[in-house]
Amino acid sequence: MTVSASLKDRIMIQEHFAHENLPSQLDQQQINTYKARIKALLKEHNACLVAHYYTDDIVQEIAEETGGCISDSLEMARFGRDCDAQTLIVAGVKFMGETAKILSPEKRILMPTLEATCSLDIGCPIDEFSAFCDQHPDHEVVVYANTSAAVKARADWVVTSSIAVDVVKHLEEQGKKVIWAPDQHLGNYVQKQTGIEMLMWHGSCIVHEEFQAKGILDLKKLFPDAAVLVHPESPASVVDIADAVGSTTQLIDAAMQMDNSQFIVATDRGIFYKMQQLAPNKEFIAAPTAGSGATCRSCAHCPWMAMNGLQNIVECIENNHNQVFVDDELIVQAKKPLQRMLDFAQSLKSK
Ligand code: SF4
Repeated sequence: MTVSASLKDRIMIQEHFAHENLPSQLDQQQINTYKARIKALLKEHNACLVAHYYTDDIVQEIAEETGGCISDSLEMARFGRDCDAQTLIVAGVKFMGETAKILSPEKRILMPTLEATCSLDIGCPIDEFSAFCDQHPDHEVVVYANTSAAVKARADWVVTSSIAVDVVKHLEEQGKKVIWAPDQHLGNYVQKQTGIEMLMWHGSCIVHEEFQAKGILDLKKLFPDAAVLVHPESPASVVDIADAVGSTTQLIDAAMQMDNSQFIVATDRGIFYKMQQLAPNKEFIAAPTAGSGATCRSCAHCPWMAMNGLQNIVECIENNHNQVFVDDELIVQAKKPLQRMLDFAQSLKSK
């Protein structure tokens, strides 16, 4: 059984956005005012701002200026757990707020908006997924971090894109059969890397699935020396033409370490903020997408990540709005596969 994030989910996503407003554009004076307010509020509330690489530059900037963290979802949660702040402001999407709560249940977790979600999370509802798992009780259930707390609680393992291949190889060495959910493209990439057949849930990311191999190859003609960096949530045809494939953090590392001076980047354009900062003498070019304008709600920038702005950061702290709650029992259950991943990642580091 598979569930596609295609037509049904696209309609749902379009309906979702029809009722949502993105943060409005601010002039420099307003930006300065909001930033000063955020700095004061964070101090006053013993709070810390953690932001994802895909949020807008201005959000990443204030996270950095206030001693918070800009990272991928796992590192955001790990940083939030280990920092002294009693309140975490999670600028990202819903599952990131939930993961922060699961790893730091004693902390207050606020989000600029609770409406920001993810097509992978939407495309993997717990009831259908649980029924699918029940049909294959002899399989280990491996889910990507981009899932709800309930789906994590049903899993044996949670993985991020940076350690998915290692975890699946580890399971195969133990003779286990694997259910993979929800991202089909990352799942295909893991299958190719490991040679292991997995039972696959067919969700996808509406940002990464827009990248087109042909468009990238055309762009390569204009920039023949550019290396192509690809996130593995992209379709296989795009992954196949990459010079480096990896998680957000791995792509930033590749940009810093590779000798090329130009890069065509197939992931959310929010990542350019950190890439440019860490590799200031290099040029980063956005990989083309299939859609444009009104035909595409993502077009290389996650529309849900874009819902995070300075205004709603201020509002959530000032008014104690948008607190993330996760059921106590779910926290206990979801923490097990998350902790398993953290321990596994730690064991890889010490090898
Ligand atoms: S970029 Fe894709 S995977 Fe990431 S939050 Fe947005 S929809 Fe989900």
